Amino acid sequence: MSTEVKGWVNARRIVGGIVFLEVIPSVSIKPVTVVIKKSENPEAWKIAKRIKVGSAVRVYGEYVLEGKSKRGIEFIPSCIEVLSTPRDALPYDPLGKTPVLFDTKIKYRYLMLRTPKERALFRIRATLLKYARRFLEEKGFLEVQTPKIVGAGAEGGATLFKLDYFGRQAFLAQSPQLYKQMLMSSLTGVYEITPYFRAEQHHTTRHLNESWGIDVEMGFIEGMEDVMKVLEELVIYVIKNVRNECSEELEQLGVDLTVPRTPVPRISYEEALNLLEKEGCQVKWGLDLSDRDEKKLGEIMLEKGYELYFITNYPWAIKPFYVMREGAELSRSFDLDYRGIEICSGGQREHRYDRLIENMKVKGLNPEDFNFYLDAFKYGMPPHGGFGLGVERLLMKMLRAENIREVILFVRDIHRLVP
Ligand code: ATP
Ligand code: MG
Repeated sequence: MSTEVKGWVNARRIVGGIVFLEVIPSVSIKPVTVVIKKSENPEAWKIAKRIKVGSAVRVYGEYVLEGKSKRGIEFIPSCIEVLSTPRDALPYDPLGKTPVLFDTKIKYRYLMLRTPKERALFRIRATLLKYARRFLEEKGFLEVQTPKIVGAGAEGGATLFKLDYFGRQAFLAQSPQLYKQMLMSSLTGVYEITPYFRAEQHHTTRHLNESWGIDVEMGFIEGMEDVMKVLEELVIYVIKNVRNECSEELEQLGVDLTVPRTPVPRISYEEALNLLEKEGCQVKWGLDLSDRDEKKLGEIMLEKGYELYFITNYPWAIKPFYVMREGAELSRSFDLDYRGIEICSGGQREHRYDRLIENMKVKGLNPEDFNFYLDAFKYGMPPHGGFGLGVERLLMKMLRAENIREVILFVRDIHRLVP
């Protein structure tokens, strides 16, 4: 049956009277080999012989029945249309024989999506989000969108991007925290797939200045265990479905994606310090775990057979004001770590108006600045909790990428504002 292939020429080979064009079509990760014989189609052959690598083409013709070809999917054209010829040589080797510099890859990401590897990666990213959404929809959460230009931050002043809003100070949203909580005054469960803007000062392999989160907030909870259960199920569901649906993509990337062992263990902050101490890492009680400690804990847990684990009940002093206290020193909070790096933070929130104001004062914040948020707590706010799951953090660990920049199309970091 006659059909068409639209795409770009990644390679051209001429062998005697035959031209082979390797075309990467639409969104598939499998290239198509267009075979043009001079003896069969002299017209098309004349065009094909002169086609430059990098050209955009539309080819009409027929697929060779599977099983016949050794070169992958073959296509015999009746007619070739060259839609656009490149002005310059491609800035990377389209056959992937010469390794691409990391900087080049990030700069020309949009172009490198013509290569099977980059396509595979971003198809996995899309699949991850598709299943996250599907899971949350099935659980009855309502998808919402909250503002990204805001008047107050939630996660600490140091990482706020400031901007001028008609003469007033505004910020880019670091997270939807305050808004998703406000919605708990009227909805029992919401989620948002959203960018986070953070002026991270350090150049690390796990921080971006614009990253994406899957944010969930749920009301009428008994405690933070309800929240952890949803998170755990979500992450396992996503990994299982990516594993099933993206086997070709994972193979293309050489990744063996294993489904983490369940139930996901819950280690308290206290226990985490003890485990680290046994391995010779001293962490002073009350401090956050450093990158090194997190990594070490990842090794300890992996030895026990766990890739995914919760660290619960951090000291309240190192958590934001909205986190509910647990006793005098601790908090109803958790992190979810995946092979030695934090991929998610969450917990139960303080829903009691007076205590929330008290918490703000202790953290040195002026409640007046948060009136718009506090108002939501005056009219029957139920107990609630939620989490913010980092899309790139989850994806980089699933794919065993060394650098978070690998898994986002257009990187925003200290050095990159374009493309
Ligand atoms: P970290 O301590 O690792 O910098 P955080 O505790 O400041 O992260 P949270 O405020 O807990 O981050 O945000 C929720 C989740 O969003 C994190 O667990 C992480 O997965 C992701 N995240 C936060 N900041 C960034 C960032 N700058 N780049 C990429 N992902 C991020
Ligand atoms: Mg965190």
